[in-house]
Amino acid sequence: MASITSYRKTYQRWLKQYEKQAYKELRKAFKKWGNSIPFSMMTEQNYKQMVDVVVLESPMVIAYEKLYTDIGLVHGKRTGVQINKELKFFKPGDFESEFINNIRNFLLTANMSERITSVEGTYIATIQKLLANRLEDGKTIAEASREIEKIVKKPNFYRWQAERIARTESTTAANYAAVEANEVTDFVMEKVWISGSDSRVRRTPPDKYDHQDLNGKTVDPKEAFSTSRGEKLMFPGDTNGSAGNVINCRCSVAFRPVRDANGDLIEKRTSNEVITDFTEARNKNIVNYERTIRNNSYESAGAYREDGSLIFKKRGKAKSVSFTNEEVKIVKGKYITNNHPIDYSYSPEDIDFALYHDLKQIRAVTPKRTFVADVIKPFSDRNEQRLFNNYVKRTENKVVKRLSRQLYKREIDLQGYKDNYWHEIWVDVEKSKYGKHFKYTKIDG
Ligand SMILES: [Zn+2]
Repeated sequence: MASITSYRKTYQRWLKQYEKQAYKELRKAFKKWGNSIPFSMMTEQNYKQMVDVVVLESPMVIAYEKLYTDIGLVHGKRTGVQINKELKFFKPGDFESEFINNIRNFLLTANMSERITSVEGTYIATIQKLLANRLEDGKTIAEASREIEKIVKKPNFYRWQAERIARTESTTAANYAAVEANEVTDFVMEKVWISGSDSRVRRTPPDKYDHQDLNGKTVDPKEAFSTSRGEKLMFPGDTNGSAGNVINCRCSVAFRPVRDANGDLIEKRTSNEVITDFTEARNKNIVNYERTIRNNSYESAGAYREDGSLIFKKRGKAKSVSFTNEEVKIVKGKYITNNHPIDYSYSPEDIDFALYHDLKQIRAVTPKRTFVADVIKPFSDRNEQRLFNNYVKRTENKVVKRLSRQLYKREIDLQGYKDNYWHEIWVDVEKSKYGKHFKYTKIDG
C-alpha cells in the first residue's frame, strides 16, 4: 500500500464510480417497483395494500445482488493489487471464487436482509403517505392515484434517497470485498482504517462520518476497530454498525503485510498441511450422541465440526429445538443432528434451516429410523428459498392425496401413512429439479 494520503485519493476516485454503479441499479429497481403499482385499481380501502404490491422477484433484492457483486469483484481485485505491491501472492482467481461463494450468504445475513427490507419499507411508506395526504385534502382516490402515479413516474422521483442509499451501500460493498480479498492472502496482515477525508481539510460543520479519529488506526484483520464512542466496526460500512456510523460513511479499509524482526513476510500456516479424512471419527461421535437422544420424549440437538469434535449440545422442547443467534452464526459448513420423538422424517423447517444456513449435513433420528440430508447447494437468494419451499408445499399436497388413496384402498394402514408422510415428500422433492439442493438418505434401525 502506498501512503494513506495517496491511497485515500485513489479510493475516493474509485468510490465515485461505485456510487454511480450502485445508483444506477437502485434507480432501476425503484422504477420497476413504481411501474408495478396498480394505481388504476385503487380504492380508498385498498390503496395502502396496492402500494405494498406482492412483487414476485423483489427488484430490490436483485439490485443489491448485482451492485454488491459488481462493486465487490472490482474492488476486491483492486485491493489485491495494492496488497501485491509488497506481497506477490494475491491471486485474483482465488479471490473471485471465494467472493462468489460468500457474497450471497452475506446478503442473506439478518442485518443485510434488514437493510434491504427497510429500503423497501421506506419506499412503500413514502408513496402511501403521498396518497394519504391527498385524500386528507379532500381529493377522491381516483384523483389522488392519478396524481401520484404521475409523480412516481417522473425521472427525478426518489432520486436523492437513491443517491444516499447508493453512497452507503457502495462503502459496505467495497470494504466487505476488501476484507474478503485479504482472506485469500495466506500471510499475516494488518488492517488499516482510512478516513473519508484528510485531516487538513476543515469542513464547517465538521462531518462526523469522516471518522478522522479512526484514520490510520491499525488492528489485526480478525479484530474490530473501535470508534471514539466505543462502537465496534469490522470495516467502514459494517452491517453491524449503527446507522450514524454507517450512513454516508466514505471511509475505506486497506491491508498491509506484517513483517517479522528480519523484515520477512510471515505465512499464516505451513505449506505442508496434512489433509485428513475425518469421516469415520465424525460419524462415530455423532452416532454415539444419537444413541443417547434417540428415544427421548423431547427434542435435542448437537452440532459437530468436520473433525468430529462437538460444538454444542442442547435440549429443546417436545416438538422443537431452537438455536440462538450466536449458534446460528457458527453452524455454516457444520453437522447438526437432532431427534424427532415422533417417527417422522424432516419437517420443511428442518430442511429450510439446513439450506438457508448452509450446513454441511442435517440428521434426524427417531426411535426407529435415521434420516440424513447432505447439503449440496444452499439457497443462493431469497427467491430460490421461496421457490423451493413452495415446491415442498405442492409436493406435500400431492403426497397427501396419494397416501390417502392408498389408505382408502387399504394398501397401507394408518401407521404406514404416518411413517411415510414426510419421507415420501422428501423422496419426491429430491427427484425434482429442486433435488439439486440436497442428498436425502433414510437408514432403518
Ligand atoms: Zn467513515
